[in-house]
Amino acid sequence: MTTSVAAVVVAAGRGLRAGGDIPKQYRTIGGEPIIRLSVRLYSVHDEIAMVQPVIHPDDGALFAQACEGLVALPPVLGGASRQASVRAGLEALASRAPDIVLVHDAARPFASPALVCRAIAAVAATGAAIPVLPVTDTVKIVDDSGRVQQTLGRSRLRSVQTPQAFGFASLLDAHRRAAALGRDEFTDDAAIAEWAGMTVEVFEGERANVKLTTADDFARAEADRMMALADVRSATGFDVHAFGDGDHVVLGGVAIPHERGLHGHSDADVALHALTDAILGALADGDIGAHFPPTDPQWRGASSDRFLAFAAARVRARGGEIAHLDLTIICEAPRIGAHRDAMRARIADITGVAVGRIAVKATTSERLGFTGRREGVAALATATVRLPWSAA
Ligand code: MG
Repeated sequence: MTTSVAAVVVAAGRGLRAGGDIPKQYRTIGGEPIIRLSVRLYSVHDEIAMVQPVIHPDDGALFAQACEGLVALPPVLGGASRQASVRAGLEALASRAPDIVLVHDAARPFASPALVCRAIAAVAATGAAIPVLPVTDTVKIVDDSGRVQQTLGRSRLRSVQTPQAFGFASLLDAHRRAAALGRDEFTDDAAIAEWAGMTVEVFEGERANVKLTTADDFARAEADRMMALADVRSATGFDVHAFGDGDHVVLGGVAIPHERGLHGHSDADVALHALTDAILGALADGDIGAHFPPTDPQWRGASSDRFLAFAAARVRARGGEIAHLDLTIICEAPRIGAHRDAMRARIADITGVAVGRIAVKATTSERLGFTGRREGVAALATATVRLPWSAA
């Protein structure tokens, strides 16, 4: 029989020390709420069978939005303390009776899949295991008047992280007994396990697995992420399509009524084609014709949002992000200005880039050349892409 492992992700606190007007679990790092990063760590992990989020009673709508599309059990509501919230998560899993449970604080969004594997491996020895790091700062006990009472020898001190791993039945039993006796002082689950007489094993934690608590923690995490995406590249894309018969053109993903149409193998959206090539250029990953050959009948009349979404997905697959997109459309007609914001919104939708990072501009060519003679539309795009630093 295979061992079934559940994860309880605890996100029921208010987290007011982080500042801002929403609880810290719902603040974003790199555009993603930290609770989403924490739930996803478990929901996509091969060794985890089920994920039980525990949230604050006021946060139902925030949670639904933050974790949309992730595979997890419906959230349960936490209690007045972290201890009560973990117990609520364990009780919700009781009927499913997993063999092992990992308890994780949502405020630690950078734990790695490898750390989850280590937790599961370590719990086998005694039924309770926690990730720890050696303490490198000197630690002192200070009295209420702010005076040092004692300096602790740090060689045996460890700072403790999550996920903490336990035999499910033993941890649930320990929580139930503590609650029945009104013992509510425990700040982590290992403390309850210790109180219940379990032997708690330690395994190696991760420096990157920090708990985000203060506004400063969030600022540092965002700066660290930017530092890691240090390979900043800009590239251009250019495209032309000719006018032909028709009653509208598609530009920037928006259909615009016009006395002529644009001809091409796909929907002939020059703007999205130029953007697609700019992004592929930043990746040094060929061009639109290499990925979507015009000789392939499946792209006849295709909506060009597919090409652009493909290029954006190639960036994400490399662990990168699109920092900025800049588009210039060159034609005498139709007039672009009235459609500018609709195009920006559509491009944001297709690429997942914030609309404030998307520029759409238009110009004529003063009646010169093929665009000036109204024979077609040209588009020029620049993409700025951030990738994780590597030698390649
Ligand atoms: Mg084209």
